[in-house]
Amino acid sequence: MSNERNIILTGDRPTGRLHLGHYVGSLKRRVDLQDSGDFDEIYILIADDQALTDNVDNPRKIRDNIVNVMLDYLSVGLDPDKVTFCVQSQLPALHALTFYYMNLVTTARLSRNPTVKAEIQMRGFADEGLPVGFFAYPVSQAADITAFDANIVPVGEDQLPMLEQTREIVEKFNRIYGKTLVLPKAVIPENETQRRLPGVDGKAKMSKSLGNCIYLSDTPKTVKKQVNGKMFTDPTHLRIEDPGHTEGNVVFTYLDAFCQDEDFVEFLPEYSCLEEMKEHYRRGGLGDGKCKKFLINVLEKTLAPIRESRAKWEKDIDSVYDIILSGTNKAREVTNGTLHRVERAMQINYFEDRTIVKEWENLLKSQH
Ligand code: ATP
Ligand code: MG
Repeated sequence: MSNERNIILTGDRPTGRLHLGHYVGSLKRRVDLQDSGDFDEIYILIADDQALTDNVDNPRKIRDNIVNVMLDYLSVGLDPDKVTFCVQSQLPALHALTFYYMNLVTTARLSRNPTVKAEIQMRGFADEGLPVGFFAYPVSQAADITAFDANIVPVGEDQLPMLEQTREIVEKFNRIYGKTLVLPKAVIPENETQRRLPGVDGKAKMSKSLGNCIYLSDTPKTVKKQVNGKMFTDPTHLRIEDPGHTEGNVVFTYLDAFCQDEDFVEFLPEYSCLEEMKEHYRRGGLGDGKCKKFLINVLEKTLAPIRESRAKWEKDIDSVYDIILSGTNKAREVTNGTLHRVERAMQINYFEDRTIVKEWENLLKSQH
């Protein structure tokens, strides 16, 4: 057991480029944790197996997006000297663990997972039929987390049910087979909007599958187009002088997630903080155009350096390949170690050495 160590496991599905929801919900926190120096190991898993559970007919999409996700990681400042990047499908221990853990979970329990329930509806699986692999992906996430002995899992709010499921599996495993697995804890952002950033349409969470995203690699022109063209404000705020609502107003939701007091000094010095700006909007006299312009400036402050760094990495894909290859090789060793420990606890380590020969001989003696 290595539970005195502080180990992080987190990751993303390679189903598209990463977006602002990933940034505020998870990536920014990962960079802070990496720089804190408080962690013995940080693993970031590109979950291609999980991505295949709802993209079975589109393996090319998954293959292509591994590089996009890696480029997004590197360009937000995740540092290959401090973080181990790895690819899920190349770690066979994860498949074996998933298979063993499936016996510790009931289908009734999996059906109650609210995130999976919503995703089943969204993907049309309720009508077309539900792939077993998709239904069971929370079990494979438990395998991912426990295989690295992770005790800290920084994620967005939609992942809390997965962490709960993992903790139940760990507790059940340890109860039946003896204390073997580390009990993990989720860390979610303190800021409510950052936990679940809505899409530019303000409806659901920003999600690659819903096409309501601002991507970290979008050009300034696209960002501007998304904010000016797609973001709803307050439909009752028709003229500038009308009083407006800031609750449920997507522009203000994004400002809640992204803006800081110093942004006002730089871009909108007539206010000292977001609350002052909101008060003016509610009173009337502050136009949507001005709010959107400010938001674009605030977003660009985050996005411009990321875009710049991505452009450099894009010229060096050989290095990106080497980073992910060496990370995956290291992760294979670590996860194989956990699998051995698990198989020993489950008494299925028959061929580790020849001790079972003695056991079988004694058994046969006692049977006579
Ligand atoms: P997909 O649509 O393929 O599921 P996704 O956009 O939901 O993609 P994931 O790869 O499933 O992205 O999520 C990776 C991580 O990012 C998770 O920790 C998740 O909680 C976080 N995350 C994703 N979207 C958001 C969001 N809109 N707000 C906050 N966190 C998010
Ligand atoms: Mg998702």
